[in-house]
This record gives sequence, structure tokens and C-alpha cells, in this order.
Amino acid sequence: MSQLPARNIAVFGATGSIGASALDVIARHPDRLRATVLAAGSKVDALLALCRTHRPLHAVIADATQFDALRTGLRDAGLDTQPHAGEQALEDLAASAHCDTVVAAIVGAAGLPSTLAAAKAGKRLLLANKESLVLAGELLMQTAHDSGAVIVPIDSEHNAIFQCLPDAHAHAGLKRIVLTASGGPFRGRHRAELGSVTPEQAIAHPKWSMGPKISVDSATLMNKGLEVIEAHHLFGAPRESIDVLVHPQSLVHSLVEFVDGSTLAQLGLPDMRTALAVGFAWPQRIASGVQGLDLLQHGRLDFEAPDLDAFPCLRLAFEALQAGGTAPAMLNAANEVAVSAFLQRRIAFLSIPALVEATLDALPATAANSLDVLREADAAARRHASAAVA
Ligand code: NAD
Ligand code: MG
Repeated sequence: MSQLPARNIAVFGATGSIGASALDVIARHPDRLRATVLAAGSKVDALLALCRTHRPLHAVIADATQFDALRTGLRDAGLDTQPHAGEQALEDLAASAHCDTVVAAIVGAAGLPSTLAAAKAGKRLLLANKESLVLAGELLMQTAHDSGAVIVPIDSEHNAIFQCLPDAHAHAGLKRIVLTASGGPFRGRHRAELGSVTPEQAIAHPKWSMGPKISVDSATLMNKGLEVIEAHHLFGAPRESIDVLVHPQSLVHSLVEFVDGSTLAQLGLPDMRTALAVGFAWPQRIASGVQGLDLLQHGRLDFEAPDLDAFPCLRLAFEALQAGGTAPAMLNAANEVAVSAFLQRRIAFLSIPALVEATLDALPATAANSLDVLREADAAARRHASAAVA
């Protein structure tokens, strides 16, 4: 077997859930994998703690008001790590010779500029930041295609599909993609039972440990909606060929059906370190720290149809994909505003889909022929949704 190539890795969103899983896998392979750039939004103490452990060449704090704290903290710890602040530093480092691999794990549309910069520079891109694909999927895929950047999806479903579609031959025979969904903490509840659920209940995911935003998205099924749009861009699949199946055990991470009647699936315990290890090593395989699957112990795999009445966000995402143009960008932006307001207890759980739907009704989709148009659509949807919250 050939040796795993050495990789210099930038981890954007290092202090988050995916960031922690990425650094865990990296630390298991000190001879080949090295975290050279670590970046976080505003948690400077958490970033400093990671710098003491992983000793990167560069550390970035997106919130520029924290730059002094970062610089002083690195100096006091006796580290050579160079401090940086602001979004431009993220883009510059993503494109720099200090990394060949970028883990894009910033949450929300804020991750788009650095993700695009990494794609443009031809890096191996471990793409967890699904919002950037929802917002600007065509542009991101085209940019990666032009530069030769390899995108490995770091979403359990898309990573599963990626593993099941190894080459162009497999792709050519693809008939259908089936994304599995855990159903989230409110699976089985009727719409009438969701009016008074709290942020604490919404982020208590039964199977996955994740950041607060994606946890709420999982509870509304907007996460699955974003993933339908993500799958459309990553695998060039039309809307009609993408289905969603609720699978509460979260062991089958997704399935692909081929024209000959074959269905392939990828299975494993619900732990993102598997997807990250695939991203670092593909087409090779490396240890991730995740145990193998004991199906005898789990006993059964159940499947059911999603309830679009209780969880209208999934329907709204399918509709936005169908409408095309700026609609997915506006869906994503309105959802980010709504989820943030819900987490701050300013709106109720069922107001999340209501706010997204009202925004999409008020702002008709237009053709999305440039990044500027998409950014303006994102901003307009944020203004509309914020005004509705207020
Ligand atoms: P998280 O909230 O745990 O972490 C988010 C990270 O982004 C933090 O490090 C934070 O400092 C950073 N950040 C936030 N705003 C920023 C900004 N403006 N500029 C720079 N950095 C910023 O979130 P997470 O659960 O790790 O999710 C990260 C991304 O991965 C999301 O797009 C999510 O949808 C996707 N994802 C996560 C999981 C999972 O299991 N957690 C699974 C699939 C996909
Ligand atoms: Mg997922």
C-alpha cells in the first residue's frame, strides 16, 4: 500500500464541533497530518487552547476586536504561531502555501468567502460548510472544477454518497439518491405539539453531537432541506432524483440507486470523524478513532417517510431548489436569521418555517448569474426576515 501523502491542513471553524473532530483525527496521524492554520469566529480563549495543543504556524480570529487578546495569548504561551484577524486573513491563508488542505467548518454563509478562496486555489477542500453550497453552489462547483480542487463532502450523508460513487462510470449509471434523516428530537410529533418547544429541547439531538445552528436545523428538518440542495450541486443530481427517508438509528448514512437495480449504502456509527478521515486520506483509508459497526448489537434498521406537515422546512427547501436562481440563497439567509432569533427566545419554533416561507413569498427569485447578485439576495432576505422578527 502506498503511504498517505503528508498534508498541511487549515481548520476553519477549529473551535466548533467539526473542528474538534478534525483535530482529533489529525492528532492520530502526527507523521502525516499537521494542522498548520487554525481559525475561529470570536472564542479567543478556546482558539488559544487549541494553539497550545496543536502548535499551528498561523492562528486567525475572525472577530478583529479580539486580535490583541490572540497576539498576547500566543506570546504569553511562548508560541511562534503568527496571529491574524478578520475575514481577509482567512481568505489569504486559505489560498496560501501554508496549507494544501482546508477543512471548511465555519457555520453559515459567513463561511463562503474562505471556502471559495480555498476552491479557487485548488486545495483539497473538506467541505462541512453546507450553507456555502446552498448559497452559491454553481459558482463553488465551477470554481473547484476550473482549479482542479478536490471537494470531499463532510456531511455524513454526502460523504456516504461520495464513497458510493467512486468514479465517472458509477456516476453515469446513477438513478436516485436517497438521503437519510434521523428525524431529529421531535420525530413522530404532530404540528400541534411543536408550538411551545424550547431551544434546549431542539438542540438535544438524539444521535449526533453538533453545534447549535445545525442542531436546530435538524429539529426543523431544514438541515435535510439544505442537504437536498447540497446533493444537487455536489453530484449534479436533478431535484426529481433526490429523495429523503427518515432513519432514526442514523447508521445508514445515505444510499444511491443505479439503473441496474443495485442500491449501495454506507453504514457506520454516527461520528463525523469517519467522514473527516475519508476526506484526509481518500482514496486511501486511515484510522479515525471510530469503532466498527456491530449490527447484531443494534438489531434493526427502520425507515419512514418524512412528515412535511409538522416539518414544512423540508418542503420549502425542495421548492426553493425547484424555483432556482436566488431562491436557495434567500431560503438559507432567512433560516439563519430565524434560527438565531429562536435560539435567543425571540420567536417560537414554528415561526422558523413561517418566517422562511414569508420571506420567499415576499422576495421573488431572480436569475443568480453572479456572486454579487447572490450576496444581495442573501442581504435582502436577512433584512426582510429581521424586520419580521422585530
Ligand atoms: P459549531 O457552531 O460547533 O462551530 C462553528 C465554528 O465556526 C466555530 O469554530 C466558530 O468559531 C466558527 N465561526 C462562526 N462564525 C464565524 C465567522 N463569522 N467567521 C469565522 N468563523 C466563524 O458548528 P458545527 O456543528 O461544527 O458546524 C460547522 C459547519 O459544519 C456547519 O455549516 C454545519 O452545517 C456543518 N456540519 C456539521 C456537522 C456536525 O456534526 N457538527 C455535520 C455536518 C455538517
Ligand atoms: Mg448531514
